[in-house]
Amino acid sequence: MPYDQPRYAFSPHPGGTEQARLVIVGGGLVGLTAALDLARRGQRVVVLDDDDTVSLGSRAICFAKRTLEIFARLGLGEKFLAKGITWNTGRVFFQSREAYSFNLLPEDGHEFPAFVNLQQYYAEEWLVEACIATGLVDLRWKSRVVGVENQADGARLRVETPEGEYTLHAEWLLAADGARSFIRQSLGLSFTGQVFRDRFLIADVTMNAPFPTERWFWFDPPFHPGQSVLLHKQPDDVWRIDFQLGWDADPEVEKDPERVRKRVTDMLGPDVPFDLEWVSVYTFRCRRMERFRHGRTLFLGDAAHQVSPFGARGGNGGVQDADNLCWKLAAVLAGAAPESLLDSYDSERIPAADENILHSTRSTDFITPKNDAARAWRDAVLELAEDWPLARPLVNSGRLSRPASLTGSPLNGPDELGRAAPPGTPAPDAPLLRGARQDWLLRHIGTDGGFTLLVREATPVSMPGITPLLIADTPRAGALHDHSGLAAARYGLAPGECVLLRPDQHISARFSTTAPEPILAAREKALGR
Ligand SMILES: Cc1cc2nc3c(=O)[nH]c(=O)nc-3n(C[C@H](O)[C@H](O)[C@H](O)COP(=O)(O)OP(=O)(O)OC[C@H]3O[C@@H](n4cnc5c(N)ncnc54)[C@H](O)[C@@H]3O)c2cc1C
Repeated sequence: MPYDQPRYAFSPHPGGTEQARLVIVGGGLVGLTAALDLARRGQRVVVLDDDDTVSLGSRAICFAKRTLEIFARLGLGEKFLAKGITWNTGRVFFQSREAYSFNLLPEDGHEFPAFVNLQQYYAEEWLVEACIATGLVDLRWKSRVVGVENQADGARLRVETPEGEYTLHAEWLLAADGARSFIRQSLGLSFTGQVFRDRFLIADVTMNAPFPTERWFWFDPPFHPGQSVLLHKQPDDVWRIDFQLGWDADPEVEKDPERVRKRVTDMLGPDVPFDLEWVSVYTFRCRRMERFRHGRTLFLGDAAHQVSPFGARGGNGGVQDADNLCWKLAAVLAGAAPESLLDSYDSERIPAADENILHSTRSTDFITPKNDAARAWRDAVLELAEDWPLARPLVNSGRLSRPASLTGSPLNGPDELGRAAPPGTPAPDAPLLRGARQDWLLRHIGTDGGFTLLVREATPVSMPGITPLLIADTPRAGALHDHSGLAAARYGLAPGECVLLRPDQHISARFSTTAPEPILAAREKALGR
């Protein structure tokens, strides 16, 4: 059954001038994630969106493991697992043969898979519901920002609604208003990068197909010679097919349903019945703002950076922006951290955006060779990949989204052990037992909004602002049972050692004992003091 697009009610505003502490412009994937995160930290948030519904048509479908962990922290993880299509395997085909396959999550012991495929509109709909449930998010639909002025004490916004305009003064402004960001353009901020001269056709088709739930990518297949094709399964028996068209293709001609049906039939064969659910043609860019923080205005998601869809880095990167920013902003608003902590949003998320842009650009260069020599090299690599595993890392059909490691962050504390994942790395998950019940490590980290001290086989003294989490090698009261030993191994902890974790589930510092002074000092450092 086709998706039933919800319509959210517009609430008239009395007009005049209003003051709000926190305003998010853009109720898309990223703005809604930030609103929910802030509300779960007890902050009241106003969200302004010029539309009255969730994202239309086919956009993000691949939600990466780290994003799923963030949504789980926000209470939505089970919904993604229940509705989404789980996949770990990708296959690459060259012409009529399979070149090789890869597994993105080769090890067990994680609650979430490498990816879940889900239409972006479901994610947004659940975020809206969760925001409403907090009672702290004032969602204002049909509210378009048409004027912005950055001031030392916040931003002054002009908001246009079906019943007239009003002025809203935001002490803090989060600009999540998408790739064409009105806020970014109005403030005259640069957004530089590269435009790719290629076009892709998206055909979302409904069908009962025998393909397994894997990502399939074809280079130069017989059914679409000279170009590439990508196939993904989504819930509701919807399959997303991306056909590379080349720069000279006419988008209007290519969207003709009969033409699209022929392309799909050439791919699937004449006997596979299907219905077209959505058709569009896209081009893409890789670019970012020079800085994401401009005083009390902070940019996130597509408003701050944009990548090609190959590698699923756009939405995933944006959700990870929100994850990085919201705990810091909440700490500043609560007076627990100085405003300068927000500078670390730039120092942590700009390298992450650059990493995404780099991978996305390389993928695009491989998929769309710029000249005959590049194409000959690419085809040779694909030819070799079938028999020579050494050639496979050179094949780039989209290096799929991985979380950024913030190892160069100024917020990182000491690593007294030098084992396993270093400070700045996203906290790895591990299976645990609570009594006889299956549990997961990440379910206990950052869920109370604060810092966590993960301790193996020791009971630390209580420390302000830090929640202890004990793991034990054998069942023990007050501790989670690390029955597989994976928690200790993934954090490199011997008995009596501990690791400090940030509210956004990143490793802050690692210690050989639970002596409080260095641990408290690391927390202070992570809070920008
Ligand atoms: C074909 C395609 C495939 C993709 N596949 C993936 C994928 O598999 N995985 C992935 O992670 N990402 C993917 N992406 C990228 C992903 O869709 C975007 O990165 C994501 O939507 C960005 O979210 P956002 O909230 O920053 O911006 P948007 O989703 O664009 O939301 C911006 C919001 O701001 C509102 N708005 C704009 N201007 C104003 C204004 N002046 N006043 C008030 N409101 C305003 C808009 O109505 C909108 O609701 C894909 C994108 C495309 C196009």
